[in-house]
Formats: sequence, structure tokens, C-alpha cells
Amino acid sequence: MRKIQMVDLQGQYNGIKEEVNKAIEEVLTTSAYINGPQVKAFQSELEAYLGVKHVIPCANGTDALQICMMGLGLKPGDEVITADFTFAATVEVIALLGLTPVLVDVEPDSFNIDIAAVEKAITPKTKAIVPVHLFGQCANMEALMALAEKHGLYVIEDNAQAIGANYIFKDGSKRKSGTLGHVASTSFFPSKNLGCYGDGGAIFTNDDELAHTLRGMVNHGMYERYHHDVVGVNSRLDSIQAGVLRAKLPHLDTYNAKRQMAAAKYDMAFAGQEHIVVPAKKTNCDKTCTACTCHVYHQYTLRILNGTRDALVQHLNENNVPCGVYYPIPLHRQKAYVDDRYNEADFTVTNQLVQEVISLPMHTELDDEQIKYITDLVINFVNKH
Ligand SMILES: *Cc1c(COP(=O)(O)O)cnc(C)c1O
Repeated sequence: MRKIQMVDLQGQYNGIKEEVNKAIEEVLTTSAYINGPQVKAFQSELEAYLGVKHVIPCANGTDALQICMMGLGLKPGDEVITADFTFAATVEVIALLGLTPVLVDVEPDSFNIDIAAVEKAITPKTKAIVPVHLFGQCANMEALMALAEKHGLYVIEDNAQAIGANYIFKDGSKRKSGTLGHVASTSFFPSKNLGCYGDGGAIFTNDDELAHTLRGMVNHGMYERYHHDVVGVNSRLDSIQAGVLRAKLPHLDTYNAKRQMAAAKYDMAFAGQEHIVVPAKKTNCDKTCTACTCHVYHQYTLRILNGTRDALVQHLNENNVPCGVYYPIPLHRQKAYVDDRYNEADFTVTNQLVQEVISLPMHTELDDEQIKYITDLVINFVNKH
């Protein structure tokens, strides 16, 4: 059996070596390392893929989130609501800009932001909501957008983990994740579903005026050379990374389908296990949907109900199966973000999830033998305890 990896970037590269090497060589021969033609071309290709009017490339997903908030004109004192159960980048940029983060609980089945909790947290100071499409599946965007509209709030989608996922509305229409709110951010960190070979990120929006503002903001607040109209940042996607992303974008749907196939095999193996909950697919499409593209499994995350999660992590590691705990501490209990306003009773789901979740190897190169080895280990261990 091939060595099991959490993410197999080498295996994936081997399959697209020629395209990627050619793309990198093209940048090297033209020496247009910054803002080369590859960046512009990738921007257009991603706009076409997503069906969105504007893609604004930038340096990474954290910058993308920050620049979204700057572009919307959020000011110190404004409250921004986001999920308690996510990677820290989301709350970090809110705090860095002097805005007030307001963390709320998530749903136990999808791990995504709980709309009722968002509604409860809205105050006259609330200006924006940041749903994170966690582990590859969109938050309940239809309900969230309705709530945002009712209260006049911006919605910034953190799409770092869900690029390529579809969202299906109640009427059956479909749109890509990251094109559902007012603006969205994404990351091209190597292990993301569409990853480059370094750092990269982007912002998406259908709003022409906001797009114009953002394009200047990523470039030192310049709209005309050496005229600085607003305080901006320096946040660029470099040409080599854009070349890599151009080579990989045409494979994104196939890659996501491979993740879905691996997830389906995991689901099947774990079916009927009383102590194991497989990740829920929450979609408005009918139950007979065979090729569900609503979840792109950035992570495949189980809940282990009988208190053996930590022992299972150790057992898997001892048997050469890497795994992850995303995330082990709720943001409201992280030292940097503790706040007297928070009440533990409002975070019952996150507080439970941090003790139960475990993410198994998930990537485009998993084979049946590896999946069987992993699922046998998990099932035997959890049932023995
Ligand atoms: C990866 C990630 C980010 C940050 O992306 P970087 O490119 O590493 O800055 C932000 N939010 C979420 C949910 C992520 O998973």
C-alpha cells in the first residue's frame, strides 16, 4: 500500500507535471514576475468558471478577507458576526481592523454558522456577517441573505474551503459558492481544493463599484499611478502562482469529484456505526441527486460520539494514518479573542464539536486500499472502546 498522506500534493503534481512546468517556464522566460499576463488570464478564467463579474487576485486568503472588509468601508466599532468554529483568520482580520468580532454558534450537522444564532446577535452596530463555508459546503446562504437584507447588512463569504462547490436554491437554481453574498474571499494555499505552490488568494464580487475600490486597495490605494486616494495594502498574486493556478483550474471539477468519490466510500464504510457521525450534506436538491456537487470535502470530518476521539487520533498516528483535529479550541476561548460578553451557554455546539471532530485523509489521490485500511482502523478502534 502507498504511504497514506493527509494531502498528497506530490501525487497530484505528477499527474499535471507537464502543464505546470510549462506554465512556470513561461513566466521564467518572460521575467514578468509581478502582474504578468498570467495573472490577468487567470483572473478572467476564474471569472468565467465561477460565473462572477469580478475576480481580484491578491496575496493570500487572510488578506482577501481583510481587504473585503476595508473595501466595504467597515469602521472601528462596527460589529461583524462570524462563526465560533473556524480557522482563526476570519476573526483575526476583524480584530486587526479595529472592528468588533461577534462570534456565534454553528449547526451540529453541517458545522456551519447557525442562522438563528446570527439573528440573535444582531445589534444596531452590526454591519456585516461572515459565513465560512466550512470543510467544503456552503452555509445556509438563502436564509442568511434574507436576514442580511432585512437588517441592511453586508455578507462576506469566506470561501477558502469551498471553491467549486455549488449552492442549490429552493427553486432548484444553482450558483457557485463565493458568488452568493455581496463579496467573497478565497485562498489558494497549497492544500486548498484549488491550491498554488506558495501563497495566493482572491476576492470575488458582482458589484462593479466595489470591485473598482478593491482593485485599488490591493495596490497601495492607487487608482492612478502614484495617486494614493485611500489607505491600501500591498497584496499581489505573483505570476508564477497564477501560472500554476491556470494549469490547475481546468482540473478543479475533476479534483472535487475525486474528493466526493472518496467521501462516498468513507460514508459507505461508516454507515450504521453507532458512535460515528459522517459529515452531513445539507442541500436543497432532492434526495435522489446522484452527482451531488454541493459538498467538495476540503475536509472529511467525522464526529466520534463515545469520547474516544483523542485516543483515536493517537491510534491512527501510531498506525501511520495522519489525521487532523479542525478545530480543537473554539475561537471564543482563544486567548486573543476572549471577551466578557460571551456566555458559554451560547456555544454549546462548538464546545461539543471541539471534543468530537476528527478529519481523515482527504485528497485527490486516495485509493480503495488506503480507504479500507483507514476505515477498518477507525471502526475497530471506536467499537472496542
Ligand atoms: C485557509 C483559510 C484562510 C486563510 O487563507 P490563507 O491563504 O492561508 O491566508 C481563511 N479562512 C479559512 C476558513 C481558511 O480555511
